Amino acid sequence: MHRLLKRQLDRLRVPIENGRISIDALDQKTLDQLLLTIEQTYNDDEESYNLLQNSLKVSSAEMRALYEQLQVKSRKRLEAVIAASPDLLFLLDKNGVYLDCYTTGKEYLLYKSIAKITNQSIFEIFEPELALKFHILITEALTTETLQRLEYKLLIGDEQKYFEARVIPSGIFVDGHNTVITLVRDITKDKEQEYLSRLSNIVFEEATEGIMISDSDRRVMRVNPAMIHILGIPEKDLLGKHSDFFSALITADVKTSIDTGMIQQGHWHGEIEIKHSQKESTLAWLTMDAVKNDLGEISNFVSMLTNISELQVVRDELKYLATHDALTKLPNRTLLFDRLEHAIASSYRTQEMGALCFFDIDHFKKINDTYGHEIGDSILREFANRLTSSMRASDTVGRLSGDEFLLIISGAQNIESITQIAQKLITLFEAPIILEYYDIKISISIGIALFPHDGSSPEALIRAADDAMYRAKQSGRNNFQFYSDELSSLSKEHIMIREQLEKAILENSFTLLYQPHYSLEDDSLRGIEVFLRCTATKMRNIPISRAIAVAEESQLINAIGIFVLNECSKQLEYWQSITKQPIRLVINLSPYELIGTQLTQNIKESLVMHQIEPSMIEFDITEKTLALKNKVIKKNVDELFALGCQFCIDDFGVGDTSFGDITDYHFHKLKIDPSLIRHLPENPKDQAIVSAIISMAKKLGLTVLAEGVESEEQANLLRELECDEAQGYLFNKPLTADEITQIILENKSREK
Ligand code: GH3
Ligand code: MG
Repeated sequence: MHRLLKRQLDRLRVPIENGRISIDALDQKTLDQLLLTIEQTYNDDEESYNLLQNSLKVSSAEMRALYEQLQVKSRKRLEAVIAASPDLLFLLDKNGVYLDCYTTGKEYLLYKSIAKITNQSIFEIFEPELALKFHILITEALTTETLQRLEYKLLIGDEQKYFEARVIPSGIFVDGHNTVITLVRDITKDKEQEYLSRLSNIVFEEATEGIMISDSDRRVMRVNPAMIHILGIPEKDLLGKHSDFFSALITADVKTSIDTGMIQQGHWHGEIEIKHSQKESTLAWLTMDAVKNDLGEISNFVSMLTNISELQVVRDELKYLATHDALTKLPNRTLLFDRLEHAIASSYRTQEMGALCFFDIDHFKKINDTYGHEIGDSILREFANRLTSSMRASDTVGRLSGDEFLLIISGAQNIESITQIAQKLITLFEAPIILEYYDIKISISIGIALFPHDGSSPEALIRAADDAMYRAKQSGRNNFQFYSDELSSLSKEHIMIREQLEKAILENSFTLLYQPHYSLEDDSLRGIEVFLRCTATKMRNIPISRAIAVAEESQLINAIGIFVLNECSKQLEYWQSITKQPIRLVINLSPYELIGTQLTQNIKESLVMHQIEPSMIEFDITEKTLALKNKVIKKNVDELFALGCQFCIDDFGVGDTSFGDITDYHFHKLKIDPSLIRHLPENPKDQAIVSAIISMAKKLGLTVLAEGVESEEQANLLRELECDEAQGYLFNKPLTADEITQIILENKSREK
């Protein structure tokens, strides 16, 4: 040290007089440089002190002054360092007495003022528990010569503050004992930060909302348990994956909406349905945000997902409550209006007719008055059950109010079928409603409006059906009325026809008429067509086509068909027995008969019973039947053809059937519809059509018959056009069996 100092002093050119440095004679700049030089080489101990005094050759008084200056300088430097650091610095002896405090500028962090701290023991300053902790720490630091740490909290003013103390042996000896330096730092902010971060961690882990954090490349960095649960995908399959995996779980529309939202606003929120491969889909609320850093660049994407499936259940329940009647559980007025609106719109679209039936229970007040309101309620519930269970699932039954109910029938085929349904509904309540203590008989009045015919809005239709219901009440209740008078009388007629047909089946009051078919080439008899007539007085003015339509609607047609078959087979057996010649019988088959599974068997049995060759029977099938394209019909026709029966396409030329459709069936004959013959020969268009049909049919190997021939001119023209056969008033109108017997006999004698 001595030599080093000497070299430095030489370089400083400190003036030396009489071999001594005169400190007083030094200017400030030189003095500062001298102090700096000493500081760099000087150790703060007695040996260094003496050595320095010898080297500088200064007096004891000068050396003390110099030493004090050195002390002040070094303290100032230490204070500057402490001021710049966040720490407070204390020097304590082994017993915890504060020897020195360096707190520059940070006194506000002190528990007590510096004056009170200096020379005080930690036991006088802190609570005993904390003081003891400090004391143990000081002892530990001094004995192990290692750094010790302690975290503690103090109430400073009314603020709770957290501190960290680091205690290290100082190497400064007082009374022969080492001391410690204690660095104290305010860690309140760190603690708060730590608390907040622990809190956010808990929130992240425990949240019921799914949270997913992705980086700027949209690779998943973190997912919480809730997200894993909602997505139903394990964490390992999510972390590090591109968040595009999400697209496969949602619909393309939602994906597009999310992409647009994220690009345009950096945000998206909305309801999504998450499709899972194994289980039912989950309804969720998704919020997605792009997070930007200080430079305004996207650093992360945060997605929050809330499972709202339960909410959907509540929503559905609320919707159900808002749209259904509490008592009967049927759709209420709101839902009925909605359904009716749809049904009207669909009837415009499909061109199919619909019907709105308005029910009102007859004398319901009396039921309430007699049995009480609760029984009245039970009746309403049972009424609703009975009504619902008798209707098709596609029809809507609902409660409008009180004892008023509505039934919406869509896609009704015709007035006949609606009448049929209304009748069924009236009879539905013939049996009493059976309750615990009472069996109660009720009846209903029904008003029917057709749509779109009677109204194009729900309000208008309900009004119309209500009007009709009112008329049903006025007509003695327990009946139905159509809004249109005309339809009401038609439906009354429908009921009368049905009753008469049922009676006729029981009493056998049908009769058959026959109309011959002739060859246009040689006028020979080619066949005899069978026609049904009902002999009941009330049916006298009802066209047979209307009676057949009612029979078809009410499924009476099968019983009638069997009657016709047996009756005409018997007749044919007789005619064949008197002529000993084959005679062909022509029988019309309704699509409703052809759809029956028993048809072929019934025909076989009848033919066997009357010893009739199947080839002597020709069945007429209309274009309408072919248009149904029904498989059972095709099967029945094929089976009867295989048996040997012949088939003819009836009423050809007015429907949508093409020659292509005909070739699917084994027809041997084609009958041109009478409406195409009626205006011959005057109408050139009809003539052209008839001519085309004949030549086309011939090319397909079919025999052609013209129906409804009334004049010689027509017959001549048809001959010219090479039509094979004809039928009509020119030859005969439909005749009784006896009259036909006459013709057959005459025909036979002519042949002889
Ligand atoms: P009408 O043959 O002319 O229809 O006679 P009505 O006695 O049935 O008369 P109306 O249809 O006008 O009255 C229906 C009654 O239904 C009126 C009311 O006392 C009763 N009512 C309405 N809502 C309820 C209900 O929720 N429960 C019960 N038990 N009765 C009801
Ligand atoms: Mg009523």
